[in-house]
Amino acid sequence: MSNVIHCEDVKKAYGRKAVLNGVFLDVPEGSVIGLLGKNGAGKTTLLKCVLGLLKTDSGKMTVFGEGSWDLSNKAKALIGYVPQGYRPYPWLQAGRLIEYTASFYPHWNAALVDRLVREWDLDLATRVEVLSEGEMQKLLIILALGHEPELLVFDEPVASLDPVARREFLKTILEVVSERKCTIFFSTHITSDLERVADTVAVLRSGKIDFCGGLDELKDEVKRIRVHCPTGALPPLVMEGLVNSYVRGQQAILTVRGYNEGRRQGLEKALGVKVDVEDLNLEEIFLEMSR
Ligand code: ADP
Repeated sequence: MSNVIHCEDVKKAYGRKAVLNGVFLDVPEGSVIGLLGKNGAGKTTLLKCVLGLLKTDSGKMTVFGEGSWDLSNKAKALIGYVPQGYRPYPWLQAGRLIEYTASFYPHWNAALVDRLVREWDLDLATRVEVLSEGEMQKLLIILALGHEPELLVFDEPVASLDPVARREFLKTILEVVSERKCTIFFSTHITSDLERVADTVAVLRSGKIDFCGGLDELKDEVKRIRVHCPTGALPPLVMEGLVNSYVRGQQAILTVRGYNEGRRQGLEKALGVKVDVEDLNLEEIFLEMSR
């Protein structure tokens, strides 16, 4: 399986502020990758670099095998992009904007667009400038899907949608992926949405991809360990992969990366006390890793 997006040691700074600090990432064809990072982590910057809207400072970044800064029109035509806070041609009615956008593409799936307009309850007579944030986001998603791109890039696609619209959007994404060859790369800080659609999660932290892999892999790797210490004092711990630790009552609670059964046994032996291991959900993992 070839990679639709390939990033190798990509760096990007705004003035002196380094935002991407050596990003390595591959997005294989047909995958749905959720880029997870807290606000200001650099998600938008990374997506804009991928799309050639921002120039990287160094490193290698390709999309469909072409340098992202020099994408050909052919490659650009294969991409659908939903940016944040974009409101093009505010004086146009929503329906006119759809027609105008469709006129740029030799292939346009009008049936899909009409269906989504109906299902998502969009009023085509409303001018773009008076659409609510959520309606605007729905319209942009529909515009991005109309030409049936091979790569869909969404920047926080559900941020302005209410829970019902979010579910509809996620359902549509799953349909799109199951019906045809499409790769989806989207940023989010909403872990529950990511869990519903993404097969892979890439965590952007401190300007690097801190983890990239399956959700289950991440859940296997990061665990919470409870150490029972009847004295109420935690023996000094030097532990590889320790993400976070605190003491509550007679328990020390540790979050560790790179967990395996051997480490639990080693810890029990070293401390001479009982140790319990708990699974974390994605949101808990994200919170712990963001600290
Ligand atoms: P995210 O999408 O994860 O919230 P962004 O990529 O938007 O993060 O921003 C990453 C950091 O870069 C933030 O601290 C933001 O303030 C800063 N930043 C973004 N765009 C610019 C810019 N054009 N000039 C200077 N700083 C910027």
